[in-house]
Amino acid sequence: MGFVVSVGMEVHAELLTKTKMFCGCPNAFGGEVNTRVCPVCLGLPGSLPVINRAAVRHVLATALALNCSIARRSLFHRKNYFYPDLPKGYQISQYEETNPIGYHGHLELPTGKRIGIKRVHLEEDTGKLLHLPDGRSGIDYNRAGVPLMEIVTDFPPDIHSSEEAKQYLQYLRLTLIYLGVCDGKMEQGSLRCEPNISIAEEGSKSLGVKTELKNLGSFKAVALGIQHEAERMEAAVAKGETLRQETRGWDEKAERSYPMRVKEFESDYRYFPDPDLPPMKFEDAFIEEVRNSLPELPTARHRRYTSSFGLSDYDAELLIAEPAWAEFFDACVNKGGEPKAVCNWMNGDFAKMLNESGTVVSESRITPDHLADLVALVSSGQISGKMAKEVFETSFATGQMPRDIAQKQGLSQLSDKEAIRKIVIAVLNENADSAQKYRSGKTGVLGFLVGKVIQQSSGRANPQLVNELLIEELKR
Ligand SMILES: [Zn+2]
Repeated sequence: MGFVVSVGMEVHAELLTKTKMFCGCPNAFGGEVNTRVCPVCLGLPGSLPVINRAAVRHVLATALALNCSIARRSLFHRKNYFYPDLPKGYQISQYEETNPIGYHGHLELPTGKRIGIKRVHLEEDTGKLLHLPDGRSGIDYNRAGVPLMEIVTDFPPDIHSSEEAKQYLQYLRLTLIYLGVCDGKMEQGSLRCEPNISIAEEGSKSLGVKTELKNLGSFKAVALGIQHEAERMEAAVAKGETLRQETRGWDEKAERSYPMRVKEFESDYRYFPDPDLPPMKFEDAFIEEVRNSLPELPTARHRRYTSSFGLSDYDAELLIAEPAWAEFFDACVNKGGEPKAVCNWMNGDFAKMLNESGTVVSESRITPDHLADLVALVSSGQISGKMAKEVFETSFATGQMPRDIAQKQGLSQLSDKEAIRKIVIAVLNENADSAQKYRSGKTGVLGFLVGKVIQQSSGRANPQLVNELLIEELKR
């Protein structure tokens, strides 16, 4: 009996704002514990929250980028539960059954597959428990009150494999980065993903019992975790065991999941509207202003690179991996660089040099002008591909324009027909026996003669021209 895997994805993204969600404390990562706290984010009695407008705008932009409908009126609720990382005894969130800021959207992958989005809402992050080596535990409230966006996929799920889940997460992360709303650093926890996984017999109309997976700190962990969890469930069902709804943790080292707790139910949280916070209202003019400010998103860029420029999926994916990298590519092409050539330089030599020097594109001396210049020198036959590599290395190290380097070093390729012809004739005279062999049908000696001519020209003669002129002279 075959099984169908269904995966729902709950993603939490910490928003890039100067201050926290409901107070003026800085929103930052790291630093000394409990140094970015105030009465509001510590939940001291009498303190009042104030909504961070930048965070609301970030969520609105994300909801629009994910093709969501936008609520005209949206409320904050208190989600009540008792845990030490939550100083107020409740988390300010948006209740599932009411209008979140964005709902009924989708994320389209470059393959054309659409992943339905159920809701995009705004809440606040909790503090962090720290377990010290000596057995004591402490709490860091620096993260408490940091604006957090939750993005939940549709039900029933559109995702049916670990690979699809990974792709969804990759494109969602890139979308957030392009929007400038989240830095997408999974290893720092600013982007967190909790998939829920269920299996059902093929053809079955209902979905099976789901488990939620936590502690997935990387794309690899997400893909592996989902795959292993589906396999674990299939094996359990095959043994006749009954699956139960639960939350499981992912052990990255052992590559297996372990039980954490049986899932709490919604009613445990006693949601109610936060009386200290007014409803958020979204006017059409504001929605349209934000919509018009959206950048070109990764899926659209991927599609443009493959369909308009004929780049491979692989190349397009490398180019869009970072906004600055994609912008560099576009700038080069706008300066007349042939897209395929620009792409090959970027994903090849340029990426390698940046990697080896431990720098990023924005710190590099190479600008789009440099690369467009290099590509033009090669395509017009002024320098050979081999010379171009050397020129590019010098340009990378010094910031000089490729054209200037080629001129200074006399690297420019010899494409002057008459100059090459002179060398060709001299070489044929010096190698009369080889010329004779060629004329008697042993055309294999041509390569030897081409080599001689290029050698005579100190490596500068355009090989294609050498070839043509040699044949011309040999036939004379
Ligand atoms: Zn605060």
